Amino acid sequence: MIRDRFAPSPTGNVHVGSLRTALYNYLFAKKNNGQFLLRLEDTDRTRYEEGAVENLLDALMVTGVVPDEGLFEEDGKIIQKGDCGPYIQSERLDIYKKYIDQLLENGQAYYCFCTKERLDEVREKQKAAGETPRYDGHCRNLPREEVEARVAAGEPYVIRLKLPEDHVVAFDDAVRGRIEINTNDLDDQVLIKTDGFPTYHFAVVVDDHLMGITHVIRGEEWLPSTPKHVYLYECFGWEQPQYVHLSNILNDDHKKLSKRQGDVSVGDFLKKGYLPEALINFLALLGWSPENEQEIFSMDELIEAFDLSRINKSGAVFDRAKLDWMNAHY
Ligand code: GLU
Ligand code: ZN
Repeated sequence: MIRDRFAPSPTGNVHVGSLRTALYNYLFAKKNNGQFLLRLEDTDRTRYEEGAVENLLDALMVTGVVPDEGLFEEDGKIIQKGDCGPYIQSERLDIYKKYIDQLLENGQAYYCFCTKERLDEVREKQKAAGETPRYDGHCRNLPREEVEARVAAGEPYVIRLKLPEDHVVAFDDAVRGRIEINTNDLDDQVLIKTDGFPTYHFAVVVDDHLMGITHVIRGEEWLPSTPKHVYLYECFGWEQPQYVHLSNILNDDHKKLSKRQGDVSVGDFLKKGYLPEALINFLALLGWSPENEQEIFSMDELIEAFDLSRINKSGAVFDRAKLDWMNAHY
């Protein structure tokens, strides 16, 4: 059974790029009689914005990108449906605790007590020496008794992934092909932060596995993080999902689509009177090409035509005139 997901962080308005990611997941699941999940990744407490979850659910409902499982809105309330919950990461802390303990016991993760000042100092020195800044492994081999004493004394810590030396991590991306990275080029990623919350990198792997996710379709900004995720799958002995990294949506100047050149949030477009169907049609064709020349699609036609192998490798330019043209056709 194919299962994919949209896993946004509640950080404000819904960017059209996020809606496109959600849409591709939705289309792929529907096309393959699979299931599309909606999970909230809210472990970065500093970026949380009031009302963001409601905005998200509204944008998905209005445009018809409706999940089969996870978060829903009913009578103005946020509810969760499905057997793999909770679907809100901040409600899953005991689950992450169980898996981080497993890594610690196996020597695949370690406590790091380095202060921000120390880390900054190391970084500055590395930069000055022309090296890529990275964690210097200072706490990798602290004796167990010392760690226990420092934790008991209430010293702040993070938990880091202990990457092996000279180990090749590999995965196949449906859009970009085979990718291989040596762990010597990766940093000992923080998995648990000083506030006890997991980082995105840790939570995403645990949750995608426990929720039975077979396909991870997401933006290319996550591609550099994927080797760390793949290594975590290795640590746990779990099967890695099929990765599909979508190219960015670009401005006319070929830089990443940004607010400076006009509206970028789903809410802005809907408020200006763009039809949800037109927006969906436009986003579907922004980074994916159907087999024929058809330009106007209903959601059902998109599901029928959708195929991962026709996702474009290069970034697509957000052509506002084209969106206007489509909007006029509904
Ligand atoms: N929470 C991440 C985001 O906001 C999700 C990335 C992913 O799909 O793995 O984009
Ligand atoms: Zn340290």
